[in-house]
Amino acid sequence: MEFIDLKAQYQASREAIGHRIQSVLDHGQYIMGPEVAELEERLADYTGARHCITVASGTEALLIALMALGVEPGDEVITTPFSFIATAEVIVLLGATPVFADIDPATCNIDAGQIEALVTPRTRAIMPVSLYGQPADMDEINAIAARHGLPVIEDAAQSFGANYHGRKSCNLSTIGCTSFFPSKPLGCYGDGGALFTSDDVLARAAREIRVHGQSRRYVHTRLGVGGRMDTLQCAIVLAKLERFEWELAQRQRAGAAYDALLSGRVRLVGRHRDRSSALAQYTVVLDERERVQATLHARGIPTAVHYPVPMHQQPAYARLAGGPPCPVAVEMAAKVMSLPMGPYLDDAGARQVAEALLAAAGGSLPAAAQAAPLPGAALPASP
Ligand SMILES: *Cc1c(COP(=O)(O)O)cnc(C)c1O
Repeated sequence: MEFIDLKAQYQASREAIGHRIQSVLDHGQYIMGPEVAELEERLADYTGARHCITVASGTEALLIALMALGVEPGDEVITTPFSFIATAEVIVLLGATPVFADIDPATCNIDAGQIEALVTPRTRAIMPVSLYGQPADMDEINAIAARHGLPVIEDAAQSFGANYHGRKSCNLSTIGCTSFFPSKPLGCYGDGGALFTSDDVLARAAREIRVHGQSRRYVHTRLGVGGRMDTLQCAIVLAKLERFEWELAQRQRAGAAYDALLSGRVRLVGRHRDRSSALAQYTVVLDERERVQATLHARGIPTAVHYPVPMHQQPAYARLAGGPPCPVAVEMAAKVMSLPMGPYLDDAGARQVAEALLAAAGGSLPAAAQAAPLPGAALPASP
């Protein structure tokens, strides 16, 4: 069994991907070729944001977003400590300080109720992460930001395709950033990413920063980076978009299969009913994670931990971070474990994983559950 079955996904889109790649090789415009603008237009349409700017990776998207907003040394950016390191890394690279607010133990997303107390005169942005594919509490976060005149960057690296109150992830705040890392819900076959915004000034800034701050050839109006996404990777995403809605639906099916088998028997990272998750990960919360994980691995079932150490406790960041100690993030880092997931995980596969998990975690699947699906792990709509 694969943790995320990229081979099956490739086989399903093999022909479309082949055609798209061949067409790039034929026209030969490897940098900023026509597929770049075509993809940007398609993704802007999909999310509803006015602008999409493709960039070299999800990390680059976050960095360019902060640069476009003018984040400088001495500034503070409020974010979550429970994410991939890139979220805090780009803040520190600009000489700013990540100020970590603790997370909600039910969802592992930033606890919006803890943000406002951390706003200071130096705060320049709020950067929530839509972890495991589930949008953070963006309404509450946008309201706090509006009270203080701050922009909000959604780190939507894991949540492309998710819905929140009638809108798409990446179009829920000032700027949304996503990643096309191969294992993300919409992946390419290398590195890639994109920024989304409906602000014309920020979009222009991001486009210039992406190409070394150029406003015209060899005129460098601002500081920039080498941050383009190459044409071949854009072509691959275009090909994979054809099956994306189907794949999202299949992720929902696999997630519902897990919910039915595990809900009430194992603690789950919850999903609010007022939004959909792109289900980049399906994650459980275990007291004896190391033992359960070793048992599953011995049975050939791969699992992963996202993330074993919260960012404020990482050696390179402990000294740099601001904010409170974030005990919930510390606890969840010790307990979370993600199960095999993806559009090509069938119900039999989900059952095999769930049964092994329940056996290893000390429970077992009651006979009734084998027939009748149980209600899912849904949380009520957030207040
Ligand atoms: C994957 C990821 C990133 C970085 O994306 P890359 O394309 O790998 O640079 C940033 N933030 C989060 C939450 C991620 O999961």
